[in-house]
Amino acid sequence: MFLSGRDDVLLLGGVVEISTVDYPGKVVSVIFLCGCPFRCPYCQNWRLFREEDCRAVEVDKVLSFIEENSVLIDGVCITGGEPLQQIGPLIKLVRGIKDLGLLVKVDTNGFYPSRLKLLMDTSCIDYFAIDIKARLDPQSYGRAIGIPIIGGRAIKNLMESLRVIHDHGAFLEGRTTVVPGIVDSPADIENIASTVAEYVDIYVLQQFRTEGGTLDPSYSKITPPSREKLLDLARVAKKYIQDVRVRTKEGGEERI
Ligand code: SF4
Repeated sequence: MFLSGRDDVLLLGGVVEISTVDYPGKVVSVIFLCGCPFRCPYCQNWRLFREEDCRAVEVDKVLSFIEENSVLIDGVCITGGEPLQQIGPLIKLVRGIKDLGLLVKVDTNGFYPSRLKLLMDTSCIDYFAIDIKARLDPQSYGRAIGIPIIGGRAIKNLMESLRVIHDHGAFLEGRTTVVPGIVDSPADIENIASTVAEYVDIYVLQQFRTEGGTLDPSYSKITPPSREKLLDLARVAKKYIQDVRVRTKEGGEERI
């Protein structure tokens, strides 16, 4: 995997100046970091794996941009890709954002629990969103992340990451993208929700989307699940978790 190799330089895939959908109830800038250890076939951010679509940018330059924007935003959402793949510059970035008095949200797939501990030790993260990709058995998980051989390790690391965040007391959103044929049955959601209930503050079911293409082009032809389908699955999760939400194109974010 290509990395900057420096703690003061990020490999950046893109920036969204203003977003109202990436941090519940807040207005944020979104920073997309390059690189990811997974290859989910339905991934919409696959360009973040390509060196030609990423650029090396000094952390201080990213912080200057955020400072200029700071009157318009409550915080910053750092996403990817997998942000913890760049743990050195990520730590410098979150410290800088906190020094500006802004909220910090980090999206992660939970594959790097040791790096997560380092990030938690900064005490700079206000909100974590962690992906739970499929029901928690190695075969299903390996298929969802596009690398069957590491399905078991991905689950082990995910569970450790959930414990790390929970033990530190940061706000934790668990979220599952409902993808037909990957994770879309009541039994899948029952398995996930019953396993993660003790760790998460909220659990969100997201609608699989195809805008921008997918890593495996055949997934671009799949019809996204309906809002009604997600609401039905959310009712299953609700048996285990108090705060369950769905995010769809049709209805935005809805609490069940
Ligand atoms: S969808 Fe999967 S492959 Fe794409 S960035 Fe997220 S974890 Fe990585």
